[in-house]
Amino acid sequence: MPTIISHAIVPLALAVALGPKRIRPRVAFAGAVLAMLPDADVAGMAMGIDYAAEWGHRGASHSLVFAILVALPLGLLLDRSRWRRSWLFLAAATASHGLLDMATSGGLGVALWWPVELDRHFFAVRPIRVSPIGADFFSARGLATLWSELRWIWLPAIAFGLAGWLMRRRRLV
Ligand SMILES: [Zn+2]
Repeated sequence: MPTIISHAIVPLALAVALGPKRIRPRVAFAGAVLAMLPDADVAGMAMGIDYAAEWGHRGASHSLVFAILVALPLGLLLDRSRWRRSWLFLAAATASHGLLDMATSGGLGVALWWPVELDRHFFAVRPIRVSPIGADFFSARGLATLWSELRWIWLPAIAFGLAGWLMRRRRLV
């Protein structure tokens, strides 16, 4: 995984780009939480679920179906008048997690198409260094990961959010 907080920046940047009239702040906040949620599966590893198992790390919780299902009740709950848009945003926020993991350099792939198929997938190009799990986070390897995430996630996300914000200000979108 990229560092957990790096997952949250993606929906936040999207929400900034779209603006609070389209994506309510509370929906944006829920999107940030949902973008981190799939890695709750590491708790399963602590309980003995195998990494490569269906509900193991990067398994079912990283799939598109999981993203679509988990986003629906929250979309309805948080913005009933525009629940379809909120659902789509929240599903995209959740799905972005698995897609980012597919661009990382290590670990197992992502069960993107669960439950249709259980194979694990990566993108052909994987520029993001995988985040070390555990104590060596502040080691040289941890810092190299942070630099990789800054370059491949934070800077593009901030640029995207800023560009959308500027276009909204100039009423281009
Ligand atoms: Zn993950």
